[in-house]
Amino acid sequence: MPSRTPASTPPRYWPRKMIVQPSPINGKGLFAAEALPARRKIGEFEGEKISRREARRRAKIQRHIAIVEVNNNKAIDAAKQKHGFRYINHSCAPNTYIRIFGERAEFYTLRRIQAGEELTCNYGETHHEGLRPCTCHNKKCRQFL
Ligand SMILES: [Zn+2]
Repeated sequence: MPSRTPASTPPRYWPRKMIVQPSPINGKGLFAAEALPARRKIGEFEGEKISRREARRRAKIQRHIAIVEVNNNKAIDAAKQKHGFRYINHSCAPNTYIRIFGERAEFYTLRRIQAGEELTCNYGETHHEGLRPCTCHNKKCRQFL
């Protein structure tokens, strides 16, 4: 029998320990439990795969929106997730970025991140349509999401 890599082999970026705790930016945030190297995949946005149409509908009625649109047809709703990137807050000077890859939304570090630092990304266009005040407290803050 040829030896085969089991399909369940964890990806190379695993494990990156991240913790959810109160954030000075907004509500709960996602924090690095260990130092993370620059320009590495640290995980991806996990949740329910839904149509973009459904995503737009939910965005109107949910109080906490945790939806990433991956293309013109599909979106991921992480509202039911207990961990992970649904907790990442927006910053106008973020330390991670999202790369859409197929129908996945992957997170990469932009620079080295210290243990204990809050992970942030630039939400880009949001379902808030530029009406929600930004609370990232950065000097380069663009003021609204
Ligand atoms: Zn800001």
